[in-house]
Amino acid sequence: MTITYELENALYLNITNRCTNNCSFCVRNSQEGLSQGVNLWLKREPTVEEVVTDIQKWDIDRYQEFVFCGYGEPMIRTYDIIEICTRLKTAYSLPIRINTNGHANLICGRDITPQLTGVVDAVSISMNAKNSKEYQQLCRSQYGERAYAAMLDFATKCKKHIPRVRLSIVDVMAKDDIQACRKIAGEIGVDLKVRHFVNHN
Ligand code: SF4
Repeated sequence: MTITYELENALYLNITNRCTNNCSFCVRNSQEGLSQGVNLWLKREPTVEEVVTDIQKWDIDRYQEFVFCGYGEPMIRTYDIIEICTRLKTAYSLPIRINTNGHANLICGRDITPQLTGVVDAVSISMNAKNSKEYQQLCRSQYGERAYAAMLDFATKCKKHIPRVRLSIVDVMAKDDIQACRKIAGEIGVDLKVRHFVNHN
């Protein structure tokens, strides 16, 4: 099973297939992996030890960062991520980024952002919409419409503990909606990345 894979100068970590959303556009609905020949469906979730061991098979000097991003929401394993990051920080000098839907505090039932201090360098949070209603229509979160506010609150709190925090949307949104998202990101004080949408169907 694929626990680690390389993509664009980074080593990616695929630690779960679980997610708190069921997005209508999720790549998992249409293909097996993000790059050719890489199947990101896991037979079971790897242990922390298995993740760390799997990383050791790569020549780490070739990469610019570690990225937690696979076929699921990595922060569903928040406490394991903190342990993995702590061990990676001891062994390597690469920065660590987490691509997330921003639900970690809902998942853990408390604010876990202080625990990311010093072990996570960047977080990219999928914003996806300009308000909670549209977010829920698109992302179908198990938390309902409160997921959107929680995601923005997570971004706000991350800012205090993580050097680089950004929200992301895709460029298929209407110009006015992109502008509305940009305004929200500005109010929180984080960057907004407008990603190019890739249709995987
Ligand atoms: S949050 Fe990400 S992994 Fe989860 S359903 Fe949405 S696109 Fe898929």
